[in-house]
Amino acid sequence: MTAAEHWLGAARGYANALCMVVSTGVGGGLILNNRLHPGPTGNAGHIGHISVAFDGAPCVCGSRGCVESIASGTAIARWALDQGWTPQAGSGPDGSDAPGVARDATAAGVAAAAAQGDPIALAAFDRAGRALAAAIAAAATLVETDIAVIGGGVAAAGDTLFGPIRSHLAQYATLSFVQELQVVPATLGTHAGLIGAAAAATMLLPPSAASESQSSQSASSESASSESESAKSAPAAAPTA
Ligand SMILES: [Zn+2]
Repeated sequence: MTAAEHWLGAARGYANALCMVVSTGVGGGLILNNRLHPGPTGNAGHIGHISVAFDGAPCVCGSRGCVESIASGTAIARWALDQGWTPQAGSGPDGSDAPGVARDATAAGVAAAAAQGDPIALAAFDRAGRALAAAIAAAATLVETDIAVIGGGVAAAGDTLFGPIRSHLAQYATLSFVQELQVVPATLGTHAGLIGAAAAATMLLPPSAASESQSSQSASSESASSESESAKSAPAAAPTA
């Protein structure tokens, strides 16, 4: 997903990006200097297990207060239920639900309730957004990412999630070089995995072949560099599908 969003999605054109999936868990990946940064074991970017609460709840990973334990869809639903939110009860001003709105005990159900103004549901997303904002700011402060792209089922809540993230971000992204940090939804959706596999494959090729694919996939105004000119003789690296 990280490579896909950098290649064709919301992170396109950004040399340094954090891409995240907020779903039943929280995962992520890093683009640094226009290249996927997998780390020695492929685990770099594991932002879901950065701790943002010293004395937070134990996490499945063995740590405490991890982003995932606060901001995953599972955690959002669990916290809302613990606070007394009930998925069956219509919580709109007139006590009713819009037809077809998810009202189950999942993050989607909490998001639907939040959209209708349910205070517990709104608090659950505010808490999740704050955890994500703290982690995104930490990552940006560490490696100077310009943008954070968030996909996954919980991100489908739209402004219900992105509003709190952006409002809390100012509290944590304080140094001058991260104050312009953007947080945006992913754009590739369910195709990200397939596109990402192709994009990652080209990124992991030797630099000459990779630059060939970079130049061939970019039909925009970027002028060809001398480096990509010299790569013309390299085997074509761009995926054809
Ligand atoms: Zn953890």
